[in-house]
Amino acid sequence: MPRSSPAAERRAPDDAAPALRDAGLRVTGPRLGVLAALRAHPHADADTVITAVRRRQGSVSVQAVYNVLAALVDAGLVRRIEPAGSPARFEVRVGDNHHHIVCRRCGATADVDCAVGRRPCLTPTETHGYALDEAEVTFWGLCPRCQPRRAPRANTARRKERRT
Ligand SMILES: [Zn+2]
Ligand SMILES: [Zn+2]
Repeated sequence: MPRSSPAAERRAPDDAAPALRDAGLRVTGPRLGVLAALRAHPHADADTVITAVRRRQGSVSVQAVYNVLAALVDAGLVRRIEPAGSPARFEVRVGDNHHHIVCRRCGATADVDCAVGRRPCLTPTETHGYALDEAEVTFWGLCPRCQPRRAPRANTARRKERRT
């Protein structure tokens, strides 16, 4: 009986080489390293990927990692997201048009499923003749760790903002 726990759905490391070949890419150490890093650190920025790849396989140049990321994004194996005010982030969860919740304060990012599952999942009231292929949806807020602890009497003590 097939299991479909989140852990099982995550690609096993052994899948990386066939995935590269299927995408028409040569299997190289840096490419495998970047895919492994992104599996361990979803939504990592390039710096985080570089650190993780170096920890795993020793020296690799910054430029090499950027080149690998670009090639993987082009091949559709990696998705690039760029929340406003944040460096580009990368993830191996591709093809399901999921969206993101980003913390305004610390930048923590979580996945939320797209109800529709394919692009564009939202239709504007007016397209102006454009052929739409994507609606980029980012939800912003404060993550649980960044939410201020409410004082017990916060509600009654709240100062009135509006002048009357
Ligand atoms: Zn936060
Ligand atoms: Zn994501």
